[in-house]
Parts: sequence; C-alpha cells; structure tokens
Amino acid sequence: MERERSAAAVMLGMAGFVVLAVSEHEGELEQAVETTADLVGCPTCAAVAELHDRRPVWVRDLPSAGRPVTVVWIKRVWRCRHLLCPKRTWTETSVLIAARASLTGRARAEICRRVGEDGASVAAVAREFGIGWRTAMSAVREHGKARVDDPVRLAGVAAVGVDETAFQAAAPTRSTSFVTGIVDLTRGRGPARLLDVVAGRSASALVSWVDERDLS
Ligand SMILES: [Zn+2]
Repeated sequence: MERERSAAAVMLGMAGFVVLAVSEHEGELEQAVETTADLVGCPTCAAVAELHDRRPVWVRDLPSAGRPVTVVWIKRVWRCRHLLCPKRTWTETSVLIAARASLTGRARAEICRRVGEDGASVAAVAREFGIGWRTAMSAVREHGKARVDDPVRLAGVAAVGVDETAFQAAAPTRSTSFVTGIVDLTRGRGPARLLDVVAGRSASALVSWVDERDLS
C-alpha cells in the first residue's frame, strides 16, 4: 500500500500532496488529492489541532496523456482544541492551489507558456485543459502580467510587433472581440517573444501599449 501511495504521489508531482483516487469520466481524469499534513498546530496558540471537517475544491490541472485533468483537493478544516482560543477553525491552504482559483498554479503557468511561447491558440489550449476560452485567456493575462510588468523583461527590446491573428482565430463566437499579442521582434533574439496581451485591434492597441511604456 505504501508503495502504491508513493507512486501516485510521484505521478502527481505536487510537493506535499498525495493522490487518494483516480477516476475517468468521458475522457477526462479526476484525481482526488489531499495534503500530507497530519500533525498541525493552531496558528494562534500552537496547540495540536483536531480534524474538524473536509471540504472538496475542484481545480483544473495539467492534462495527462492528452486528457484534461481535474484535481479534487479534499481540504481539511482544522479546529483548535482550546475552548478559549479565538482561532476556532481554519482551512488549510497551499501555494500550489490559490484560494478560490479554478486552476492549479502550474496549469496557469503552462497555459501562458503554450500561448506565449508555443504560439498555440487560446481556443486550442482551452480544449487541452478542458476549460472555457475565457478561463484560458484570463490565465494568460494574469500569469503573464507579472512577467510583463517586470522592467527587466522589456530591457533591450528594440522592435515590437503585433500578433493579432493567433488570437483572432481563437476568439469565441463573437467575431468582434479582439485581443492583440505584443511581440518582441528585436533582431538576434531568436523566436519572437510574447511581451503582453492587450484588448483591442492591433494598431491602436500597439500604440497605447508603447505609449504606456515609453519605449521610444
Ligand atoms: Zn488555538
């Protein structure tokens, strides 16, 4: 049993989590997981906590062998044993799965990488992950934003261009919604890097993006 457990944990590849069960529904995998935490102290008084409840949260994770994956994290709710302690109960957290997130952190990063580095369309990546176009697009925006806002990322950028078509093709039913990728076209940098993704048609979006950053 211990061997099976560790094999499942290795397959999952999320430190501090183990797989409890894996099931398949209509070509998608569902992995029930929990943290390895079993001895937890109260953050207020440090007394050893008691298990109070378990509450599942569902998040999309990296696809596995071409199948979209949902991770069901069976979160523990802990209770402080001391009646006078103000902490009472609290729910465990993880940096790997943010509170109220619909994606694991690594899924968000991979969606951004597939669109920004591989040049995959948002629609194709959304299908791979089993999520809607909007969810995939906001993962690209949110995950990419921190990197785009990093001034070092824009250092040495001498030429920028736009990549509208990749995103235009990925737009859902409304043909009027456009987003534009701002691409680093500086010579000698190899393949074009995606610097940002902004709403709007290419020309006006590019002009306002450059204005905001004073690259000229
Ligand atoms: Zn306490």
